[in-house]
Amino acid sequence: MVPVVAAAVLVGLLAAPPLRGLIVYFAVPEGEPWRGACPSCGRAVRLLPPTGRCPGCRGRLGAGAGAVEAVAAAVAVAVAYAADGPQAPALGWAAAVGVALGFVDGRVRRLPHRLNLALLAGVAVLLTVAALAEGRPGVLLHCLLVALAVGVLLELAVWAGALGPGDSPLGFALGGLLGWYGWAVAFGGLFAAVVLAGLWGTLRAAAALVRRRRVRGLDVPVGPFLLLGALVAVLAR
Ligand SMILES: [Zn+2]
Repeated sequence: MVPVVAAAVLVGLLAAPPLRGLIVYFAVPEGEPWRGACPSCGRAVRLLPPTGRCPGCRGRLGAGAGAVEAVAAAVAVAVAYAADGPQAPALGWAAAVGVALGFVDGRVRRLPHRLNLALLAGVAVLLTVAALAEGRPGVLLHCLLVALAVGVLLELAVWAGALGPGDSPLGFALGGLLGWYGWAVAFGGLFAAVVLAGLWGTLRAAAALVRRRRVRGLDVPVGPFLLLGALVAVLAR
């Protein structure tokens, strides 16, 4: 068990520098161009150190020191624990892109379509390979049905103004991944996301009240909770 955890932590730490680059690239407000270079010194941003600072000008750039590394390592350990079949590569891919999506949504409250599409495309290809390797291509139809059910449900919430436009495509992709495990895991993940987002929003509102700040409802980014809920459901199945 210890070697597996150590290997997973190592994978998480190795994934962190390019993930930091992706997060800086995509964490820009709607309507602004993607950020491929440091806004202070113009140095190209691809791999970034755990300090959360630009290697060129030492200015702050992206997520705080150690944050991406800690989350990536924890997610890698969870995935190593949950991965137990031919679908494991799809789970790992979703986890890696999911860390970037979670940080971007946390910073700028949006889930860029290119990241959502990257998550969906990777999951679709890797699950197809897994289904064919297992000799049961029928499971793919099941994944598609679950993806559609979750995606349509979240799209209704987008129409109602409860979610952002990137939440339903992310739900579609995660629904497809969790559909491999069945309806119960997929909707368990959605339920866990709602509970966790509600808890987080309530805690933040309570903290704001204590500090006598104005409270604007349960103002939380939903993407990180959809991702966390999916991981919890896969772990708890
Ligand atoms: Zn710089």
